[in-house]
Amino acid sequence: MTPHKPAHTPRPFMLSFDDGPLPRKTDAVLDALSRFRGEDGKPLRAGFFMIGDAPARFLAGRQYFAPYELWWRKGSMRRHPELVARALAEGHMIGNHTVHHVWARWPVYRDMDAVRSEIHGWEAHAEAAGWHPATAPRLFRAPYLLHTPTMTAAATELGYRIVGGQTVGDATPGNGLRAIEQQIRRILNTPDTQPALLIFHDIRPVTAHHLGTLLDRLQHEGHDLRHFSV
Ligand SMILES: [Zn+2]
Repeated sequence: MTPHKPAHTPRPFMLSFDDGPLPRKTDAVLDALSRFRGEDGKPLRAGFFMIGDAPARFLAGRQYFAPYELWWRKGSMRRHPELVARALAEGHMIGNHTVHHVWARWPVYRDMDAVRSEIHGWEAHAEAAGWHPATAPRLFRAPYLLHTPTMTAAATELGYRIVGGQTVGDATPGNGLRAIEQQIRRILNTPDTQPALLIFHDIRPVTAHHLGTLLDRLQHEGHDLRHFSV
């Protein structure tokens, strides 16, 4: 019997993590990543789209977060600069995910100044934690991937590159490891010569607990894990 051969080469993938940094969750993700190497054999580099200082209380977040938002316990570079410093020291890249994780469909974010101030507000916390604006790449991912014309225009004007990606479903309520794996397989089974850029959420327990296992399985199936690069 001939062994089963996939019709195409398994698609490579890169990793990104949104909405941190949170103690115990972001640390667990960084611990898991430290076992892996990129295509050049060097410690794997991932992208972390962090939040400057999201409101810690649900009601206080209502002016920023999406009406359907459930996970209001999001990251804060202001409260946890040591996690930002750790990610940078371990070779990862950090990107701008706004200071408050704003929902771009609120009318206020059709205003360029409001968006500029969300982007600048992030920079202040990032700089305080060791991000160097003069040398670091300027990467922007809009919260909820809502790259509206205003979001895109403001970020571009401030020298940022817009970074999309494909969500693995770890922020969907009730999704466990199995659902996330299925979603990743859907993404990676789409033939493409370019690596997929997966979007996880380091603040979600399912990701913090299972990332290492998941990466082991995907590599075992032949999917190359690549350094985050855009
Ligand atoms: Zn987000």
